[in-house]
Amino acid sequence: MVAPRPIRTPKELLAQQLVPEEEFATITDVAKKYALSITPAMRDRIVGPDDPIARQFVPTGQELISLPEEREDPIGDDPFTPVKGITHRYPDRVLLKPVLVCPVYCRFCFRREVVGPGDSMLKEGQLAAALDYIRSHPEIWEVIFTGGDPLIMSPSRLRPILAALDAIEHVKVIRFHTRVPVVDPDRVTEEVVGALTLDTPVWVVVHTNHSQEIGPGARRALRLLAGSGIPLVSQTVLLKGVNDTPEALEDLFRTLIVNRVKPYYLHHGDLAVGTSHFRTTIAEGQALVRRLRGRVSGMCQPTYVLDIPGGHGKVPIGPGYLNGDGTVTDPWGITHTYPPRSSTD
Ligand SMILES: *Cc1c(COP(=O)(O)O)cnc(C)c1O
Repeated sequence: MVAPRPIRTPKELLAQQLVPEEEFATITDVAKKYALSITPAMRDRIVGPDDPIARQFVPTGQELISLPEEREDPIGDDPFTPVKGITHRYPDRVLLKPVLVCPVYCRFCFRREVVGPGDSMLKEGQLAAALDYIRSHPEIWEVIFTGGDPLIMSPSRLRPILAALDAIEHVKVIRFHTRVPVVDPDRVTEEVVGALTLDTPVWVVVHTNHSQEIGPGARRALRLLAGSGIPLVSQTVLLKGVNDTPEALEDLFRTLIVNRVKPYYLHHGDLAVGTSHFRTTIAEGQALVRRLRGRVSGMCQPTYVLDIPGGHGKVPIGPGYLNGDGTVTDPWGITHTYPPRSSTD
């Protein structure tokens, strides 16, 4: 049997009946602009044309619509790039982007203008310069691997980079932002886990947006990582038509906790070009987050955050419960004075 390969062309989408014939020309235009890939693991979990998985990975003509407020560099990586492959926005931590490819391409990706197949791996000299930058900045406490998806790298490519970081005294924590354990779980092997096992603690942040993504393969991969002592947290993008209901979010966050993954961030959709069909309003996001409070375990509550366009950082934008008039609203919408004035307040 031939091992299944990712879907990478509009022709393959058509052959797999993931796009209708009449949209083929449009999809071809979209695929010229933005990278396309759907792993077999994700293909297997698509059950219908408009389901939460198909919406995330199957291109649509809506991606050709751009709004004036949308930007090619929505969260302002460029102005904070001192050397290729490094983004240094916060003093104590840097992003390290050794590769700009992914096993899947999300249709709402905030780095969609720079991520995709092609010449997208740091060359040896560039990687050495990135590591030198980290070495020469003692304020860098944490190195965050992102990209692209850093776990697309083989253990033999990861090992020397991790060994170099492990040897830097001031780097106390290494973090991986990845979708691999969910979208391409077979890549998570004992060998990869071995490569992630260093003196410096490695944390893994799993990007996942819907419980339907988390099948038997993902559960095995998460169990292997968690069972090896690697702390797991998650990040989720709030996406219209994918997870913008209280039920979908509740189900996802419960599934994550059951798989030993602590929900970390719920991101408000970034202003990436051609992604307006995925964005909710902040008010809608706050209403959803409010619905989870009081009804779902505190363990299941991520922080709802906005990455302020232009590189001004992430801030929590969840609903407030303190009302500024000496009252506080409980999870069920009833206000109380604080401190209480009588035993019934
Ligand atoms: C998101 C991000 C980080 C990590 O932020 P945390 O709040 O620590 O998760 C670091 N640097 C940049 C440039 C980022 O965009």
